[in-house]
This record gives sequence, C-alpha cells and structure tokens, in this order.
Amino acid sequence: MREPITRRKFVKKSAVAGAVLAASAGRVFLVASRVLAASIDPAASRKFGASLKGRLVLPGDSEYESARTLWNTRHDKHPAMIARCAATDDVVRCVEFARKNDLVVAIRSGGHDPAGFSSCDGGLVIDLGAMDAIDVDHARGLASVQAGVHVGQLYSALGKHGLVAVSGSCPTVGVGGLTAGGGEGWICSKYGMACDNVLAAEVVTADGRVLRATSNVNPDLFWAIRGGSGNFGVVTRFGLRTIPLARVMKGSIVYPVSRCREVLRFCSEFIAVAPEELTLGISYGVPGPADQIFITICWCGDPAQGERAIKPLRSFAKPVSDDIRVVPADRGLIDSDDSSMPYFESGAFISHLADRDIETLCDAISGAPSRYSLEMFQLGRGVERGDSAFPLRTPGFNIDLVGSWRSAAERDAAAAWVDQRRKALEASSTGVYVNSLGDPGMARAAFGANYDRLVQLKNKYDPTNFFRMNQNIRPTVLGAQ
Ligand SMILES: Cc1cc2nc3c(=O)[nH]c(=O)nc-3n(C[C@H](O)[C@H](O)[C@H](O)COP(=O)(O)OP(=O)(O)OC[C@H]3O[C@@H](n4cnc5c(N)ncnc54)[C@H](O)[C@@H]3O)c2cc1C
Repeated sequence: MREPITRRKFVKKSAVAGAVLAASAGRVFLVASRVLAASIDPAASRKFGASLKGRLVLPGDSEYESARTLWNTRHDKHPAMIARCAATDDVVRCVEFARKNDLVVAIRSGGHDPAGFSSCDGGLVIDLGAMDAIDVDHARGLASVQAGVHVGQLYSALGKHGLVAVSGSCPTVGVGGLTAGGGEGWICSKYGMACDNVLAAEVVTADGRVLRATSNVNPDLFWAIRGGSGNFGVVTRFGLRTIPLARVMKGSIVYPVSRCREVLRFCSEFIAVAPEELTLGISYGVPGPADQIFITICWCGDPAQGERAIKPLRSFAKPVSDDIRVVPADRGLIDSDDSSMPYFESGAFISHLADRDIETLCDAISGAPSRYSLEMFQLGRGVERGDSAFPLRTPGFNIDLVGSWRSAAERDAAAAWVDQRRKALEASSTGVYVNSLGDPGMARAAFGANYDRLVQLKNKYDPTNFFRMNQNIRPTVLGAQ
C-alpha cells in the first residue's frame, strides 16, 4: 500500500536541523536547571527518587538529554527532574513532592504535544512512558490500558484478539495525551473520538488522591478528563471499549495538486452524505511529490459496500493512482512512523468548506515549501453522539497546518505560513482541536462552549491550578496560580 502523505510523514528530514538549533541554547538552560535541581533539598530529592518504583532522572544523568527531548524539537526545555514513573503510586509521590517543593509539573505520556506542554523549565516532568501495560477483558469488551501505551502498541496488542479501539493513526503518539484531548482516528466517523470510547479511568488529582472515574463514579471528573487535556489530573489508566474488527479497506486516491479545488469541493459535499463506515482525510505535504494531493480513506464495514461507497471518490476526476485495498485492521488504522522535528502547528475546525476556504487551502499549498503540510481529517457523525469535554460535536473537517524548518532563517516564514492560513480560515471555523495547537493561551478557543463548565470543575478538582502546563483552564477561586 502506498503511504499517504501526512504530517506524520514529513518529519524525518528536519530532525537533525532541529537538534543542532537546540544545542547551543540548551547549554545555558542546562546550567540553570542544574541550579534549580540543586536548590531543591538534595536529601529530599534523594529520598523522593528512592521512593519511586521507577527512576528519577536529573540534569547531568546520562539519560537526561534523551529524557527531556520532545517530539516537536522547537521546544527545548530543561526540567529540574524527570520522574519515569512505573506505577500509579509513583505519580502520587510526584504530585506530593511537587506540591511540597512548589514545583511546576508537566504530564507526559508520548511526548508529542505540539505546544511542548509535556515538559517544563525547572519543574518536574511526570513521565508515564514506562507505564505501558495492556490487559484485554474479552467478556466485558474492555481493554485496561496504562496511559504511557503508544497508539501502535495498542493496535498491535488488540489486533492479536481481532479487536481494535478508537485511537489515533501515528504509532508513537501516547494514548494518554491523545485521549485526554479527544483522539481522532480512522474509525471515528462511526465510533466517535477516542475519548468517547473511554468507559473508565484512574486519575491522580492535584491533591494526590487516586480517583476512579466512570459515568457513575465521579461523573463530573469523568466528563472533564475526556477532552479537558491534562487540566484535571494525571490519568494513569484508561478502560477502553474494544471493537471486534479484523479488516478494513484503506488506502489513498491520489490526484494532481492542480485539481486541489475540485478535490476539496467534492470531498466537502461527499462527507456530508457518506456512510459512517467511511472516514476520509485529505493531505498534502512532504516527503512525496509536491504535485499531488491525497484522499486517504478507511472503510470499516463490508468491503463490497465500501467499494460502492467510494466509487464517486475515484471518478469525479482522473486519479494519478489508487491503492485502496483490504488490510488487517491493526495495520490499516495506523500510518507510517516518523522521527521528530521543529515545527509550528495550528488549525481550524470547519463543518462545511466555503469557496473562500477552498481558495485559502489551495493557495496555501500551491508553491508551499516541501516542508509544510496540510492535513484535513474528517470527523463524521460518530462525534455527534459523544458527551464529554471534547467540544467539536458537529461533523466536518479538522484542518491541520504544519510548518517546519531546517535552519533558523526559515523559522519565521514557517510560522507566518501557519498563522496567516489559520487566520484566513477563522471566519468559517467553529473551533479548534486542542491536540493540534502549537501555541499556549488558546483554552477558550479549544474548549469552546464547554469552557465555563470546565472552569467550575477546575475550581473543584484543581483550585490552585497545580496542573497548568496545558491549554490552561484557569480556576476562578482564590489562590490559583
Ligand atoms: C506525528 C503526530 C501524529 C499525530 N496523529 C494524531 C492522530 O492521528 N490523532 C489525533 O487525535 N492526534 C494526533 N496527533 C496529536 C496528538 O494527539 C497530540 O499531540 C497529543 O497531545 C499527543 O499525546 P502524547 O501523549 O504523545 O503527548 P504528550 O506530549 O505526552 O502529552 C500532551 C499533553 O496531553 C496531556 N496529557 C498527556 N498525558 C496525559 C495523562 N496521562 N493524563 C492527563 N493528561 C495527559 C498533558 O496536558 C500533556 O501536556 C499527532 C501528533 C503528532 C506529532
């Protein structure tokens, strides 16, 4: 199967450049974070480290550099300590220690946050990467999944049982961050977002309690953690609904980029009437031919019906190529893996593309440098049925713009490309996907109509704003940071 071109794909080329840019500034911060780490009572630090089942990584340790590196290498932060947690108890110890020592905390599962919120300068990173157990309970149609599990691990563990869960499409993204922010993936038109398929969660709250959250137990917390993106506590474990699905139809119909307007216009009309079994993405980017635009589809129903359903996508113009075929579901739901890079990312959610949006998007990609990408992911009618803090509840396209650079000189142009296009789409946009935001301070836009309810829940569960490395919902009670 030919690889679709997505933002997940174009990262390799820029990785080295990002590392070089980061290195010199890094030395200054390393000294600063060593000072900060030293300013925490060394005996208390040692005791804290020894209390963990996992490992405490400090500046100067041989693993510190790799432990602090984020996927988006634009963010070059130097935490005072990184706790590589091995169990829920470790997370509780972290919350207690950070509180006592007045340290800012960052929550990390897979480290792919575009805004770099999963690290911090001078604080404590609660790293769940080593908490990666998956237990499948066939009888209850449930998988108990620790938050540090990667999307690829999830699909391959469930695939052995002929099952899938709703999750993302990049194998190295963390289930923790993806699900906490919403989680779009290749079957979400039928089944909703990843967060809509969480049946239970274990959460460590700002006061160090371990709470269970379900639709019956702490239902308000359960609502908030599914879309509230790290504002309400550290989710250590998710109970995910499993779905029996052995095979999907997956692949891309490729058109010349000169047909961009037709592709966008046709797909916008098409998704409004397409069956829920179909989830569709449109993408443009590198590496790959700059003269092509991809319509990638995933069909999770009967293949014969799928063939009939996608026929119009193959015939409204003359495709360059088409590699759609039936594949095992655990393979079909993921795209290829990549490595990290420095980039700006932003986006918009649009239910129906107006002509001016089509112009903006086609103009964006015509002549764009090969290291920029546009990705439009369909959220189908499945999202209408969910009830959680994830706010994008009308079908449409989540549009992602990513601008990367190879040298500092290209950085401003990449930022401007993303920002200008985002602004141009604003008039039609009814929201933004929190997991696509590369800049801080966008909580109101990200949580939309749910923002005020989330503030009330923040007042209840995190009144001092202990968890603030995120699109931050500021509590309105006294004493908040
Ligand atoms: C290459 C690439 C591909 C992507 N593909 C998809 C995709 O297919 N679908 C999709 O929906 N998104 C996708 N994303 C966006 C992705 O969902 C977000 O970047 C998400 O935040 C990543 O989760 P993480 O655990 O890897 O990130 P992290 O950086 O570890 O976490 C991001 C934030 O999520 C919160 N968080 C993380 N873990 C927890 C936890 N255990 N409890 C509470 N809060 C937590 C914190 O606020 C944290 O700052 C992609 C991103 C990249 C870079």
